Amino acid sequence: MEKQYNPADYEEAINKEWEDSGFFNPDNLPEELLADNGKPHTIVLPPPNVTDKLHVGHASMIAIEDLLTRYKRMNGFRALWIPGTDHAAIATQNVVEKRLFKETGQTRHDLGREKFLARVNEFAGETQKTILNQIKKMGASLDWSRLAFTLDDTRGKAVKKMFVDMYNDGVIYRGERVINWCPRCKSTLADDEVEHKEQNAKLYTFKYSSDFPFAISTTRPETKLGDTAVAVNPSDERYKKYIGSTFELNFVGVPLKIKIIADRNVDPAFGTGALGVTPAHSIVDYQMSQKYDLEMIKVIDESAKIHEGFGEYSGLSAAQAREKIVEKLREAGLMEKEDEMQNNLSVCYRCDTGVEPLPSKQWFIDVDKKLARLGGKSLKEISLEASTRGEIKFTPERFKDQYENWMNNLHDWCISRQIWFGHRIPAYYKETKIFVGEEKPEGEGWVQDEDTLDTWFSSGMWTFSTLGWPDNYKNGVKSGDLAKFHPTAVLETGFEILTLWVSRMILMSYYALGEKPFSNVYLHGMILDDKGKKMSKSKGNGIDPLDVIAKYGNDALRLALLIGSTPGNNARMSWEKIEAQRNFVNKLWNIARYIITNYELQITDEEKDVSIDATAADEWIIYQLNNLKANVIKDIDSFSFSQAGEKLIDFVWNDFADWYLEICKFEKSESKKYILKLVLSDILKLLHPFAPFVTEVIWKKFNSSMLMVEKYPKAGAGAGNIWSSFYLIKDIISAIRNARAENKVEPAKKVEAIIYAGKDLEVIKQNEILIKSLKTGISDLKISEKGEKISNAIYAAVGEIEIYLIGAVDAAKEKARLEKEIANLEKFVAALNGKLSNQEFVGKAPEKVVLVEKEKLSKAEMELGKLKEQLENL
Ligand SMILES: [Zn+2]
Repeated sequence: MEKQYNPADYEEAINKEWEDSGFFNPDNLPEELLADNGKPHTIVLPPPNVTDKLHVGHASMIAIEDLLTRYKRMNGFRALWIPGTDHAAIATQNVVEKRLFKETGQTRHDLGREKFLARVNEFAGETQKTILNQIKKMGASLDWSRLAFTLDDTRGKAVKKMFVDMYNDGVIYRGERVINWCPRCKSTLADDEVEHKEQNAKLYTFKYSSDFPFAISTTRPETKLGDTAVAVNPSDERYKKYIGSTFELNFVGVPLKIKIIADRNVDPAFGTGALGVTPAHSIVDYQMSQKYDLEMIKVIDESAKIHEGFGEYSGLSAAQAREKIVEKLREAGLMEKEDEMQNNLSVCYRCDTGVEPLPSKQWFIDVDKKLARLGGKSLKEISLEASTRGEIKFTPERFKDQYENWMNNLHDWCISRQIWFGHRIPAYYKETKIFVGEEKPEGEGWVQDEDTLDTWFSSGMWTFSTLGWPDNYKNGVKSGDLAKFHPTAVLETGFEILTLWVSRMILMSYYALGEKPFSNVYLHGMILDDKGKKMSKSKGNGIDPLDVIAKYGNDALRLALLIGSTPGNNARMSWEKIEAQRNFVNKLWNIARYIITNYELQITDEEKDVSIDATAADEWIIYQLNNLKANVIKDIDSFSFSQAGEKLIDFVWNDFADWYLEICKFEKSESKKYILKLVLSDILKLLHPFAPFVTEVIWKKFNSSMLMVEKYPKAGAGAGNIWSSFYLIKDIISAIRNARAENKVEPAKKVEAIIYAGKDLEVIKQNEILIKSLKTGISDLKISEKGEKISNAIYAAVGEIEIYLIGAVDAAKEKARLEKEIANLEKFVAALNGKLSNQEFVGKAPEKVVLVEKEKLSKAEMELGKLKEQLENL
């Protein structure tokens, strides 16, 4: 076995071997591995956007999902992990538009739809290739035979079918609605694509005209050209008498007809308490106009300019028009107040341009329509119930509330986008006729809708469009992959797309299949730099996963990403962290090398019963291992990956390397080789989902099989008592080491030791060699049941057992040490006494836990007594 583990020497070959085995595809898994007839465990990889190569955040997602997939595969599941990429409509188009403009000064309109799309497709194709290579390089055990792209033909077919079905069901409708519009992107924005930015604004208070009875307040006077009503609170005494009347007036040269309406939602304390209602340019006002049947007047166009028909204002930008109107109001003496204020400006999430609410013909999904296929429930109701009834669970749990809150406030979803890259809406127009269908209708003159679908429409179908829907779904019956693998088990993704994506998947799956898309949602946080800052190209603080792999290998990268990060929280990443995990990988290699070489582990070794001549130390390591298995399994099953990994690493460094391997140097027995092999094998299996490469390489050194498809260890299997007398020996050894260290005894200095063992005489005698040899610096060890107190010695107590170290004592130091130890123990005893006299604790805690605490107390009290005696003795 090679002296050092150099990942670059092995990773490519191992990866190829895994891929060639065909086991990434669950249909090929060996029968003997499968448990319970091979229950499915499906995860869809959240398809990375084809806008850019992958960053370390993606690597973290891959590490978690591969961990789950490998773990489930080894547990006998038909583990399917589906790969794919997302066309990310607007985002990708945006990147290409920027490049095009930078390189040629052209816009997409200069190029025309067809040529521009060819460019986008070329770009997307290249990025996609890079991304897929990156994922493969990471050793992700994805089933590449099921690779999908949100914009490929198969998904295109599914998208069309979904649209047509929803249209025929009346779920999708076309309507004029006030939507969020980005005048720069020239596109509709979904509610989630609108961000809010605090800004300094001016609140103007003025009368429309001198014959209007009171003033209104607004930050956008130019939109008042489209006012058709003024809303006041019904309880506002100032305006009660005007409610219901209509005023015809002249507002800065433009005739308006204003109706006074009462609405409970108007805040009497804001401005004058009277609100000009502009149905065409505010989503709130639009909703009010629907309620009170108000006329809608369009003032601002798609370029954020004033429409025709507004006299001198027509053609001006909104900002210019505002300036002019404010000036006129001042001149006419109608302006009452101009107040500086802070308000939230709605901006485009992509380009930061101010959003204009505009009326526009768009396609919508009606989330409130009651549907026969959902048992008379609406999409919103059924998606909400999935969470409230616990069909879908969230990790961490706090995201359940966030999801439900968002669903509760969900409005109809505008799904059309005024961009070119994406699934084109399957609607065709001829004069006043509309046809919605998967194919263009027969006959001349039909023109397809220019718009494309919101990117979340196609990615919302990801769990089932990747499993053969709609072909695998006829008359409400699933077949093929859809029957085998849907609903999926876990959706693992970033918390920032809980509402954008996760919620849409839930909604779409219930509509298409009448079932949930997944049972669990696991949300991860962001990977930040070592100072807690967001990684970015421009700041140069990013860590490229491929650089890490080249330098330290995949396992160090994965371990650094998995350990120390908890669900839903951001985690910091640094080269130091990666190096620490690289050190662990090396440690594991050295341990394995030592065992495999010294004990001559062979592929041909036969199994052996190790319980026959097991020593206390042997029983102890097997018990610790069983304990570890139970804990690791429990942690992974509850998505606590970091804890599971920490326990594994701790076991390898401490119990196994620092203790057991040292013991094996002094305690020789027939069974040692087999126990070491058993522990090493289990460690490799347990660690495989965390660090697949190095574990597979080591495994191959003494096994002919592939670790990836070995059975995962089960909790409780194997020999071992639930308690081993070695715990006592370990305590004695630790007590001697501590006492020496506290007294600053040079490590090389040998001491004479006397142990009064009491009732544990026999056990201690059996383990004499270990007490003497395991870094205790003992030249001569005497063990007896009891004896005279010795004053000129370093003293330690373990329960009733007394230990004297002779030949290195410094009386003053020893006195100080004993005093300190007594003080510590007194505190400990007091705390335990407090705990055990607390009725709440004693009443609620399991009996076993209370018993353990009581044992701790009696042991500590005994030690305290002994130490006090020794102090007097000194
Ligand atoms: Zn924009």
